[in-house]
Amino acid sequence: MKILVSNDDGIFSPGLIALAEVASQFGEVVIFAPDFEQSAMGHAITIKRPLTYHRVKFLKDFESYRVNGTPADCVAMGLYHLGEVDLVLSGINVGSNLGSDIWHSGTVAAAKQGVILGVQSIAFSQVINGEEPNYEKQKPYVAEIIKMLTSGNQPRLVNVNLPEEPVGMRWTHQSVRHYNGKVVEGHDPNGRRHFWFAATPLTNPDEHSDRWAVDHDLVSLTPLRLSLTDDEWLAKLT
Ligand code: MN
Repeated sequence: MKILVSNDDGIFSPGLIALAEVASQFGEVVIFAPDFEQSAMGHAITIKRPLTYHRVKFLKDFESYRVNGTPADCVAMGLYHLGEVDLVLSGINVGSNLGSDIWHSGTVAAAKQGVILGVQSIAFSQVINGEEPNYEKQKPYVAEIIKMLTSGNQPRLVNVNLPEEPVGMRWTHQSVRHYNGKVVEGHDPNGRRHFWFAATPLTNPDEHSDRWAVDHDLVSLTPLRLSLTDDEWLAKLT
């Protein structure tokens, strides 16, 4: 099995190596990752300047390339370079991608780009509460998920969120009842106003949602699809 590994945190992220290490149990791994962090870039692609990719030698023995583009660009470049790929993996993101985060996430977008280009894909993100992650508790789950999802008759695009102390796994739905983004105002040293997009902690997530699962130390697996069509409304309107 040929596996393309990407992320949005950039080629130096420890989560990228952790994912590549697990993936190498299942086949030949090639890494295409952004040369700078591209978190919250969503599914942006680069069209106003040329893209390039360069081999790097510092990621252990993995065949690795850095790309001067977005996560979606990295997957497109990787699939172009490699031709045939059986699986795209994205992550492990430093921080969760739950609920409405999925709209902004470069991690999920890299996986989505894989599916758009015809390859089964999985996005991995991990809840981080300060401590530098070492991924040892998560790696067995990542391996189990790759094994399960490549065993045939499985969803093509899955968003996985790993808690810090996982005790099991659960299929979930995307929690969209609450939005966790807010604008926070501050001032620079010269007194000028500036603004940050900040995440607010959400409580009481809907049961069996992605957020609910990680709140209960369960690895959350959410099957996603490319279609944004509101099928309920469409049925009423046609
Ligand atoms: Mn990120």
